[in-house]
Amino acid sequence: MRKRRIAILGSTGSIGTQTLDVIRQHPDLFELELISANNNVGLLAAQAREFDVNNVVICNESRYPALADALKESDSKVWAGIGSLCSLVKSDNVDIVVGAMVGFSGLRPTLCALEAGKIVALANKETLVAAGSIVTRTAREHEAVILPVDSEHSAIFQCLLAAQGNAVEKIHLTASGGPFRTWTKEQIAAAGPETALKHPNWNMGAKVTIDSASMMNKGFEVIEARWLFDIDPSRIEVVVHPESVIHSMVEFVDGAVIAQLGCPDMRQPIGFALNFPERITVGNRKLDWNILHTLSFEKPDMDRFPCLRLAYEAIERGGNAPCALNAANEVAVAAYLKGLISFCDIPKINEKCLAGLNFAADPSLEDIFETNREIAAIANGCID
Ligand code: MG
Repeated sequence: MRKRRIAILGSTGSIGTQTLDVIRQHPDLFELELISANNNVGLLAAQAREFDVNNVVICNESRYPALADALKESDSKVWAGIGSLCSLVKSDNVDIVVGAMVGFSGLRPTLCALEAGKIVALANKETLVAAGSIVTRTAREHEAVILPVDSEHSAIFQCLLAAQGNAVEKIHLTASGGPFRTWTKEQIAAAGPETALKHPNWNMGAKVTIDSASMMNKGFEVIEARWLFDIDPSRIEVVVHPESVIHSMVEFVDGAVIAQLGCPDMRQPIGFALNFPERITVGNRKLDWNILHTLSFEKPDMDRFPCLRLAYEAIERGGNAPCALNAANEVAVAAYLKGLISFCDIPKINEKCLAGLNFAADPSLEDIFETNREIAAIANGCID
């Protein structure tokens, strides 16, 4: 059988490097056609050499000379800029595109991959949060497939394989609760980045780890699930499950609940998407039923974690509201990581930006980019 030819958008980040780890374990199944990164020339060049990658893109164009120099002795072709990335993902030499870029920046190349009818293994949830209706419509129009990589959505997808055409009554989206699950409102308000960055169960990049601490991540995942599974948000319920063993559940009309379980390790959903529908080994730890004694569940607290409430409000409002929430949050999280604002300012900025939104009920792609720019400017105004 021919190897699956993979493109990884964002190969130096957390999902990117874990995807490479899965590919490294299965040279008989996969080959790397394209990798990209925003800034990390050193790691990108090392990856290009290790996997003998045909095309290597550095999105930050000012870093191009450094990358070209690092790869001058190799066979890899070196490119710069998001425009190059957008045309290269459409190549006939690419079968599967792994969307692992951070934030809104992943939207354009993801749309290009879908326009070319590719299989997109999507980890970059902000793409669906900002432009879910456009992204899913583009996939339908071009017969492209979106396979979820986000662990909860991969779990739901795996549970749905048992649906046999039956309608979903409810999705139970599990949340670890993050590092502040048991903290008071006052403690959370004053928490510094070093504590927010300590996720109890998952090994992830900085942006998503902060989003997990605020539960903005779970809110975005509600929106992501709404689009991936075409389900009304009122049927998506968040349940806090601190052990992160159940990755999500699907309930049917007869009350039967199908759950997907495993040790928290992103390589499972990555491997499942890369080689779907056949399962492969990914080098992860397996659940040990002799050690695992308790699975516990709690109702999420929207008072201590207002970002989750804001996400439900944004998806209920629809249009460009989720895009605005994402844009505000990207600015707020970056400012928080730089020490410019406190943790409790993140939901405040998000709420203020949502309230100040120039609402569009059925936004075009241009409207989405415009909303992203406008709201980022408003959010930045809240910081200075
Ligand atoms: Mg997740």
